[in-house]
Order: sequence, then structure tokens, then C-alpha cells
Amino acid sequence: MAEVKYHHVGKKFGEHEVIPDLDLHIKDGEFIVYVGPSGCGKTTLLRMLAGLETLSAGQIWIGDNNVTNMSPKHRNVAMVFQNYALYPHMTVAENIGFGLMVRGTPKSDRRKKIEQAAALLDIDNLLDRKPKEISGGQRQRVAMGRAIVREPDVFLMDEPLSNLDAQLRHQMRAELRNIQQRLGVTMVYVTHDQVEAMTMADRIVVLDKGQIQQLGTPREIFQKPKNRFVASFIGTPHMNILPWEQCRGHGITVPDAFQDLCNHHHVYDIGFRPADMTLADEDGVIKLTIKTLLVENLGNDVLVHGQIGGEGGHVRALIPTEQAPSQGDELAVAISLSKLHLFDEKGEAIGSS
Ligand code: ATP
Repeated sequence: MAEVKYHHVGKKFGEHEVIPDLDLHIKDGEFIVYVGPSGCGKTTLLRMLAGLETLSAGQIWIGDNNVTNMSPKHRNVAMVFQNYALYPHMTVAENIGFGLMVRGTPKSDRRKKIEQAAALLDIDNLLDRKPKEISGGQRQRVAMGRAIVREPDVFLMDEPLSNLDAQLRHQMRAELRNIQQRLGVTMVYVTHDQVEAMTMADRIVVLDKGQIQQLGTPREIFQKPKNRFVASFIGTPHMNILPWEQCRGHGITVPDAFQDLCNHHHVYDIGFRPADMTLADEDGVIKLTIKTLLVENLGNDVLVHGQIGGEGGHVRALIPTEQAPSQGDELAVAISLSKLHLFDEKGEAIGSS
């Protein structure tokens, strides 16, 4: 177990700067998730930590060791890849124990560790099978088992669930989290799937263009996004973000308290989550009327796609199915002031710090 520190880390591929200057402190035993759009640098950050990619600037520390120039095998990290990288001709037990065999661990010790890991992962009845004789989810566990027996300081995972179907992904998310907690290891996990990040992480690193946009617990990131990028990236369905000027001209009624706030700050965009719009008619809320363009049935709720005041922006509202409007209906909705996100011209959240 160990903490991890990125200290002024930079990375260039030729002239292409992927990570400008990044500082990050991952705590011992923490489950940390790097999330962000394709190409934002998640995998590069992970590979630099694993020693599979050199740094162009800065240092990386694992515990008390400056590992910046250390070879991967001396870093005591274990990486689980998207494609599992299992040896097809070896049994599950041989795959799990391969790293130990290479290291020269005696056979009896090896067997014990393999059996312990297999029991933890609930694959102890599959030890004599070959990878082609087990399911995708089971293969994923074997890859995990191979990492566990090495007893690394840090586990690194790059989109390990992306080859699984939706139901299995869901199940494995909970299992991985459970295993990490039982082992008490530091886990660094890369995904572009913000739901995965929200459900698994102790803290999330939201990245864009190689820069940390926000570092925080899932709750902090969801409830207090620091800027427009984080607000629009995290949360399903996505937050509605509209230029305030455009809204004002299109029949939004605001309470005095909000008008006061706008007078003091330069509000450029306003944001509100589809689930935070209600049909209740109360005081202290922002009110707007939406022309229903499309109604998507999600089961308990419907997602209404609509337009504010004719020419206004598009918005999405999550409404209980029993209150669902029909296409073309006008829908009067309210948003409580506490659920509103305000952004300045640069996209920074107003009043979030
Ligand atoms: P994805 O979610 O698509 O895997 P990512 O956030 O993991 O994306 P990286 O794989 O870290 O992104 O890539 C970051 C940037 O660095 C991209 O613009 C990519 O094209 C570039 N890049 C990555 N590896 C190399 C390389 N070996 N040579 C040149 N450019 C690279």
C-alpha cells in the first residue's frame, strides 16, 4: 500500500503537449478514478505511473520512492488492461500465478496465493480451465487475480470493464469496489464513463486537455461542479446550460433574491439538472415554460426534450411518468434556487468555492 504523487508532471509526444503541468496527490488506500473525454490524457497519466511512458517534466512518487526513472517491474504496481492479456494456452491457475513463477516464488506459496485470490474473486472452481472456456466477466476476474497475487502497492486499471455487457459491467463495478476495500489497496482507475466514476470512486479526477478540471468526491463533483466543463460532463442526463441573456428574453420568471444575485455577479450561463425541475408551483423558485418537442420514456420517469419560450434554448426535464406531457404541450416547470448553477464568462462557477 502506498500514496502516489504526481509533481509538476508534463508530457509531450514530439511537439504535441498532452499534459502541460499536473500536480496530484493520491492517498494511501484510495480508489481514485481519472475521467474525461477521449484524448484528454487519462491513459497517458496511468502509463506514466506504471513506468510504460516516460515523463517530459516533473516527478512521480510512490510512497517514499521517486519512481520517475524506475523500470516498471521495480515500481511494485500491477496493471489490469482492457483486453485482460491472458495467455490462451495456460489454465486460469497458471495465468494467475504466472508473475509469481517468473519471480521464482516456490510452488507451494504460489498455489496458496492463487487459491486465496481465486476464492476472493469467486473463481476457485475454474482454476483448471483455459481462458476460452470461461466468460468475459470471469476472464476479467482472472486478470484481477493475476494482479492481486503480486501484492502490489498500487493497482492500475485502464477501462477494465469496457468489454463486458451492460449488466455484467454493473455487477463488476460493485465487485471491484468491494475487492479494493477488502484489500485496502490504492487503486487508480481510468474510464471515460462518468457513471462508472461516480459509482466507484472515493475521489474523481475530472480531466480535460491534460489538465485537472476538478478533484473531489463524487458528491462534491456532482453538487458543486467548479466550472462549465465539469457541470456538463458529469451527470446523466446532462445538465441544461443556457446563456442567461437568452433565457431572460424568453419568459423565465425569477425571484427577487436571484435578481439581486445577478446584479452583484456577472452571470453568463445558468445551469440546472433535468432531475431538478419540478412541476410544483412554489415561491422562491425560477419558473419557466417549456414547449414539449419529444418525450422519451425511461420507465419511472420520462425525459422531456423541449424549448423555452419559442426561440429560447433547448432543455431536458426529467418528469415522473404519471405527469408526462404530450408532444406540443406547454409544460410549466420550477427550479429551486439552491439547485441552480451559475457560471461567469470564463465558464467558472460563481459561488462554488
Ligand atoms: P481515450 O479515452 O480515448 O483512451 P485518453 O484520455 O486515455 O483517451 P490518451 O490515450 O492519454 O487519452 O491520449 C492523450 C493524447 O495523447 C491524445 O491526443 C493521443 O492522441 C496522444 N497520444 C497518446 N499516445 C501517443 C503516442 N504514443 N504518440 C503520440 N501521441 C500520443
